[in-house]
Amino acid sequence: DIALYHSKKTGRNISNIYRTGLNQLMEKRRALQADLEKALEEDEFELYYQPRINAKSLEIDSYEALLRWNHPQKGLVSPAEFIPVAEASGLIVDIDNWVFKRACRDAAEGLKGKHLSINVSPLGFQQRDFVKTIEETLEKTGTDPSQIELELTESMLIEDDERGLAVMKQLKRLGLSLALDDFGTGYSSLSYLSKYPFDTIKIDRNFVVALGQEKSAVAIMKVIIGLGKGLGMDIVAEGVETVEEAAFLRENECDQLQGYLISRPMTVEEIMHEVPLDIRCSILRAEPDDKTD
Ligand code: C2E
Ligand code: MG
Ligand code: MG
Ligand code: MG
Repeated sequence: DIALYHSKKTGRNISNIYRTGLNQLMEKRRALQADLEKALEEDEFELYYQPRINAKSLEIDSYEALLRWNHPQKGLVSPAEFIPVAEASGLIVDIDNWVFKRACRDAAEGLKGKHLSINVSPLGFQQRDFVKTIEETLEKTGTDPSQIELELTESMLIEDDERGLAVMKQLKRLGLSLALDDFGTGYSSLSYLSKYPFDTIKIDRNFVVALGQEKSAVAIMKVIIGLGKGLGMDIVAEGVETVEEAAFLRENECDQLQGYLISRPMTVEEIMHEVPLDIRCSILRAEPDDKTD
């Protein structure tokens, strides 16, 4: 039967193609993983810092540390590409420790006196010695804990997470602040906000983008800001790219803004010379804003 013969043949071909594709993908992943291990040994990682400004005064409140991988052949590789692989292999724990150490060193040296926020991976947060490692690094680098905020995500807190809550309380006792990152992308159970001791909510960029696109986004944003502030938290909007977004957020009492409109992530050296940011903020200062006075 010719038809059957053909379908069997094609079926086999498809599964072969599929298998070859999968093998290539796994091969690429393995290579990336080996490269990542080498990157830690060879010191190919770098931290960039993106300013977060006070929405009222437009002064810089703090900086978020963002990891960059300077690959010897590929150049700068984005975290979106390598963090999932590092999570899957467990290497993210070592990478998180490297990031925390480097950021603390920067906080005690080039960025002395400035507030820094540092991202934590779910796997890192789960480590039994997570708090101890952080405490030791703070001590070794002579960093003032009140300079440091940790950015956690909803995905690392399971429902009724007693252990997670205990860890957060220990971190607060050390003097660190805690931010809920990417708010609105996970389950976004509002009970998280009252159950866990967050100081800051970072509203995900998706919500900020939606402001100009969906009518409901405006209502949702106002509710989130009101709720967060009612609970005594600072509200940060992530990924602010347009003057319109910034104007809306400022009018609606969002506390802080972060995004390319204000500044791209910068190196420590760039921050120490602080030239580009003044120019950016003058765009916002030029906004007619007489009503608020
Ligand atoms: P995130 O923590 O939500 O960081 C914000 C991301 O948005 C950063 O991407 C930043 O460069 C980008 N961004 C800032 N302003 C704008 C904007 O106006 N428009 C757009 N389109 N994007 C903007 P990045 O640096 O590529 O990092 C991606 C994610 O990788 C981070 O999301 C964070 O989850 C993770 N990550 C970055 N650095 C670290 C780290 O040191 N440790 C861990 N565990 N994760 C990290
Ligand atoms: Mg973050
Ligand atoms: Mg974020
Ligand atoms: Mg985000």
